[in-house]
Amino acid sequence: MYNLPTLEATREITSIAVLTSGGDSPGMNAAIRGVVRTALSYGITVQGIHRGFTGLLQNDIEVLSSASVSNIVQRGGTFLKSARCPEFHDPACRKQAAEILHSHGVEALIVIGGDGSLTGAHLLEEETGVLVIGLPGTIDNDIFGTEDTIGFDTAMNTALDAIDRIRDTADSHERHFLVEVMGRNSGFLATHVGIAAGAEMILVPEYAVNIAEVALQLATSRKAGTGSSGIIVVAEGNEPDLTSKIANELQQHGLSPHISILGHIQRGGRPSGHDRVLASCLGAVAVEYLLAGYSDIMVGVNKGEVVDIPLDDLIRYRKGLDPELLKIALQLHK
Ligand code: ATP
Repeated sequence: MYNLPTLEATREITSIAVLTSGGDSPGMNAAIRGVVRTALSYGITVQGIHRGFTGLLQNDIEVLSSASVSNIVQRGGTFLKSARCPEFHDPACRKQAAEILHSHGVEALIVIGGDGSLTGAHLLEEETGVLVIGLPGTIDNDIFGTEDTIGFDTAMNTALDAIDRIRDTADSHERHFLVEVMGRNSGFLATHVGIAAGAEMILVPEYAVNIAEVALQLATSRKAGTGSSGIIVVAEGNEPDLTSKIANELQQHGLSPHISILGHIQRGGRPSGHDRVLASCLGAVAVEYLLAGYSDIMVGVNKGEVVDIPLDDLIRYRKGLDPELLKIALQLHK
């Protein structure tokens, strides 16, 4: 696991709130539990906000006790519920959110979500002075400044479980399968899943796909007797029906791949041990950072250590896909 920072408490905080926002990811519950139990151990009151920023704007808030977070560490999803809240793009709504937090006596907010949610959190602190700490909760692992995110490991293993099964059928019927995995604009999940599944090909949004070349490679290995079947992992990308389009184009080149879109199956399910430990530690450390005088940061991991990253950096920089990783993936399937 990761090395944890040694932090000294320098700030007095008596009341915090926590919410989950954006797409749910396995381990969010463990993170909430980490926040709640750690805060309570310092005598800090914790309020849970339902349905992310939407619930905040609707004043949908409850006080959490130690018992509120019992029996959730093993559950996927988020017991606080999550939502997307387009209104939060409006500064007037963020001002309203700060007023609601003040009315509950909340001094600091812990936001667990993807880069969109953490952008909203940053703007809330910048514009209203509410102290915020972000935790990276997304299966996409596309957040700048952290090598890992809560839910990524579980989602990867869920996708692998599905692909291992699909490969039995692909092999038996000597067919190619296009397997679409989540990840929005990022090919991070697809690349890791592709390497771990031994995929014959990985198509990611970071690199333009030449379908004719893909078809040629598949047809060549089929003719050579080395590739009568195979798995092509496709990152969903931001283009609608991308995988169907790729399949149609491959058909025009004489191949007839099956399509399997893993979809939301990757988001749910019991979190892996890795995600439970990661989420628990990040949740606990978020409170420690707050007490040590930090805010407007995300707590993430880098080079084996738990670290703090200014939320501002998340907005300014984009996490790139390591080309070396893709190179390895290509070398391994030859
Ligand atoms: P996922 O990993 O599922 O994509 P995410 O947190 O990135 O998670 P988004 O839909 O991008 O998901 O954002 C979640 C919510 O965060 C939005 O519905 C909105 O309430 C808030 N948010 C996102 N971007 C901004 C922004 N630029 N300004 C203010 N709030 C934002």
